[in-house]
Order: sequence, then structure tokens, then C-alpha cells
Amino acid sequence: MSVFSLLIAGWILLEKNPARAGTTKISKKDAHYQTHPDDGKMCMNCQHFIFPGGMSSMMDKMPDMGGMKDSMGMGNMMAGRCHIVAGPISPMGYCRFYQEKG
Ligand code: SF4
Repeated sequence: MSVFSLLIAGWILLEKNPARAGTTKISKKDAHYQTHPDDGKMCMNCQHFIFPGGMSSMMDKMPDMGGMKDSMGMGNMMAGRCHIVAGPISPMGYCRFYQEKG
């Protein structure tokens, strides 16, 4: 086998590795995802949550006002995405990878 063939084989193996570059997300089932908050913890307050188009900066600029963001129903507007869990994610959801925004 030539060096060139080994390089090609290595490249193919890297391309087929699902863990490579974090391109594979965890299923909702494996993440124990639920569509409702857990003891006040919800996706919209998780650092992994990606708000639907353009809302992230708006939400970050809003003052918290003692939890009013949560109670105003802002989380029910649209599904967002998650850096870790696959598929549309409810802002009101929760999973075992929850990490509160710092
Ligand atoms: S990691 Fe879990 S809690 Fe955080 S945004 Fe993703 S699905 Fe929601």
C-alpha cells in the first residue's frame, strides 16, 4: 500500500467519524429532553439554546425584571435549536445537559 493510499484511507476514516468536529447531535431521547421546564430550568435560560432567527440578541438585551421574561410567555413564541440536542427545541423545554447561562 502506498503512502498516498494510506493518506486517502485516513481521510475517509476521519470523514466517516460521527464524533468529528461535533457535527452529530444527541437525540432528544438520549438527552432525556422534555417539552416543559424542570423546577424552573428551561432551554431559553440554557447556554446551549439557540434562539430562532435574530431573537437571541433581543432576549439578551431585555432586562430580567425578576423573572418576568419567563412569565411573559416569551419562551412559547417559536422553537429554537440547541448546540447539543438534535431537532427543534422548545424554549420552555429541558434536558439533562442544561447549563444555566453565566
Ligand atoms: S442542552 Fe438541553 S436544556 Fe440546554 S438548550 Fe439544549 S435541549 Fe435545552
